Amino acid sequence: MNWAIIATWRMALEGVSAASELLKSGGSASDAVETAVKMVEDYPLYKSVGYGGLPNENCEVELDAAFMDGDTFSIGAVGGIKDFKNPVSIARKLSLERFNIFLVGNGAEEYAHKNGFERKNMLTDRAKRIYEKRIEEIKNKNLSPYDGHDTVGIVCLDINKHMAVATSTSGLFMKKRGRVGDSPIPGSGFYVDSLIGGAAATGLGEDIMKGCLSYEAVRLMENDIHPQDVAEKVIYEFSSKLIKKRGKAGAMSIVCLNNKGEWGVGTNVEFSFIFANEKIEPKVYLAYPKGSSTIYTEATKEWLDSYLKRISAPLD
Ligand code: ASP
Repeated sequence: MNWAIIATWRMALEGVSAASELLKSGGSASDAVETAVKMVEDYPLYKSVGYGGLPNENCEVELDAAFMDGDTFSIGAVGGIKDFKNPVSIARKLSLERFNIFLVGNGAEEYAHKNGFERKNMLTDRAKRIYEKRIEEIKNKNLSPYDGHDTVGIVCLDINKHMAVATSTSGLFMKKRGRVGDSPIPGSGFYVDSLIGGAAATGLGEDIMKGCLSYEAVRLMENDIHPQDVAEKVIYEFSSKLIKKRGKAGAMSIVCLNNKGEWGVGTNVEFSFIFANEKIEPKVYLAYPKGSSTIYTEATKEWLDSYLKRISAPLD
């Protein structure tokens, strides 16, 4: 039997590697996506997710996360949660509730506290320093405050044909207090149906949610369109629509996986992603838009080395 897992961005590599071990030994897609996302949340140098995530304009780290089970359609999500170690696990726990499955701010924190989730100050010194530097840059150079964001989104199929998806992010750097992006919103940042497939998106949440991109991708996969064609169609058709209606389209990328283990990616910017299945070890790929197609290649050693150097470079 086959299993497969696909994830947004290089930061998911270690998590996907751990999840692959789990899947090899018959583990479930739900455990695999939670395990992988938790590892991204825990790593301090990944500055757009969990611990070490970049703060909002008030220098507070507000996190969004979600979990969905493709067998039961159970969904749990948190928005703007502060000071808890693993938002994805809180989201998964919420997915078991009948009511109140999407909680934000204080309500999410109260729920997490009552259910024994670990508290943690999620603002690292490094993230605080990046915030202080950005404040100076914005003042001096008139830069957009909103650069610097990414979501880990992971879609997985296990050997029992169960599918699950999870997302986690600190959202847009310098966002307004209370801003929630697409990542915890069902159908926008993620969606999965074990009878069809799943998808997870990353990029400018304000634009992704205008097109409900993840639901759209799953809906198209239902018509037996290959996930690669689906991913490209979703990204490029919607980018064009936004440009027609609004004059511009933000960064948008999507990863798709169907219930046969076929997969695809679509992006309108340079984008890294991870894929693994029973035949292919977890690897980093780089994707680029080319006309209305997305091309991708395996990341070179130089790219991988310079990535590690960049995320750990000393800050002055
Ligand atoms: N989609 C996320 C948000 O808007 C950020 C990202 O994936 O880059 O919050």
